[in-house]
Amino acid sequence: MPKTGLIFFPAFDWAISPTHPEREERLLYTRDQIFEEGILDHAEIIEYKPRLATEKDIARVHFCVPNINARTTTAHLISAGSALKLGDALMTGEITNGFSHVRPPGHHAMRIVYGNRGFCNINNEAILVEYLRKQYGLRKIAIVDTDVHHGDGTQDIFYHDPDLLFISMHQDGRTLYPGTGFIDEVGGPGAYLKNINIPLPPGTSDEGFLRVWREIINPVLKNFEPELIINSAGQDNHFTDPMAIMQVSA
Ligand SMILES: [Zn+2]
Repeated sequence: MPKTGLIFFPAFDWAISPTHPEREERLLYTRDQIFEEGILDHAEIIEYKPRLATEKDIARVHFCVPNINARTTTAHLISAGSALKLGDALMTGEITNGFSHVRPPGHHAMRIVYGNRGFCNINNEAILVEYLRKQYGLRKIAIVDTDVHHGDGTQDIFYHDPDLLFISMHQDGRTLYPGTGFIDEVGGPGAYLKNINIPLPPGTSDEGFLRVWREIINPVLKNFEPELIINSAGQDNHFTDPMAIMQVSA
């Protein structure tokens, strides 16, 4: 029976500020829905406890200035470690896929970390990629970033990596932070077309979102033949989100 791993870590003790939209309610709402829909009653769902990412896990990806301790809190180590925990469960065959429902987020964190960028200090997805490569010998991995903001940190880290396909669909950078993610950012000379940006007009709804999935993302993924697909699953393209102006439904 295919199994799905779930990890939940809302980071109650970590916030940008008390009223900032990037706060624990963001996750608690989804957690409530998971309870109410009875998803946890299914034998196919396995819940895991998070673990801490180590300094080595982070140092495989980032140069932190002046050092890792200065740029991370325990919450960051747990958020990144949750992805690693599900990565282990996936590679040992306990689960066939997983959902790491955690914060702080990571996709704006670039190779060099000076501090918080777009609420991100360390890049959870990139840390997972390099962990799986080191620990299990995976090579070809795809990251599909469906957060409403361009995944500029992930793009920065893997821009010259021919074995990492990065696809980001997001609200057009001329209208939203971080102001990047245009179609001519296609990867370095050794990794040509391994970086694909799909900027979408503000107000794009389910119809546009699904059309991009069917007509661009799915064929490109199929052609790349990745050993693993990671989804940066930001939910801020939802029509109620206060920080962007997209019209995507739940
Ligand atoms: Zn976002």
